[in-house]
Amino acid sequence: MKLEQAIARLAPVLDEFQPGHVWLAGAGPGNAGALTLDVLSALAQADAVVYDALVDGSVLNVAPNAELHFMGKRGGRESVRQDEITAQLIALAGLGKRVLRLKGGDPYIFGRGGEEALALARAGIPYRILPGVTSAFGAMASVGIPATMRGINKAIILATGHAAGSPEDLDWAALAKTGQPIVVYMGLKNLSRIVASLLEGGLNSSTPVAVVMAATTPDERIVISNLGGIEQAALAAGIASPALIVVGEIVSMRAELTDLAARMRSA
Ligand code: SAH
Repeated sequence: MKLEQAIARLAPVLDEFQPGHVWLAGAGPGNAGALTLDVLSALAQADAVVYDALVDGSVLNVAPNAELHFMGKRGGRESVRQDEITAQLIALAGLGKRVLRLKGGDPYIFGRGGEEALALARAGIPYRILPGVTSAFGAMASVGIPATMRGINKAIILATGHAAGSPEDLDWAALAKTGQPIVVYMGLKNLSRIVASLLEGGLNSSTPVAVVMAATTPDERIVISNLGGIEQAALAAGIASPALIVVGEIVSMRAELTDLAARMRSA
């Protein structure tokens, strides 16, 4: 059965995008397959799409008649200020447009969706959230690292490495002490600081670590090492942003799973 037929059979009852409303949506980690039907429908109905750097251009093809506003990091320049983004959303909604604010991954996970929702609520603009597959879970699924595994972990920590080393940084040593795997967003630049803090927190330098770049896209790459070696390994491999750092025993499951898969193929 073709995709169009499958969607026709599902006959999803999706909300109508009202003029003057803002939908804060997540486009998922990169591949079109992880888009939700809600987001697809929002793209088809939007008058204006305000998107960030992590949204793939192919997704925007679904909204050929919408005005497109890029609001994100451009070639190493600082991000657009958050207050400029919210002002833009409010202004477009005030003009009676159906405004789709589209972010990579999930809007509420390190996407500043909470701040945007707050600003819209304060301005009296009706809005809703359309969740997306966050890159951590997209990446782990893509490279074969289970996010939780009975006997290995009982929790999983999603952390930002953005402020690593600064006074408002989080307590990495405390995270390390939980013994639970940690997935770090925006951590590549601060990888050495993060590694040092985790080692100080008591993690062994042999703890497995994966760095996954551009997960779920054609540019996806993975580097596997341990806490002691990951910095050098990521550097040697030329890993660049966007990348996630996965720290913990769950990373070692990947080798087992890929070995088994290879053996089955050759059997
Ligand atoms: N809201 C997004 C995260 C935005 S913060 C989400 O839910 O995924 C930006 C960070 O997300 C990047 O620095 C990187 O750590 C991570 N990221 C986003 N997309 C990624 C991808 N395809 N592969 C690897 N990391 C990604």
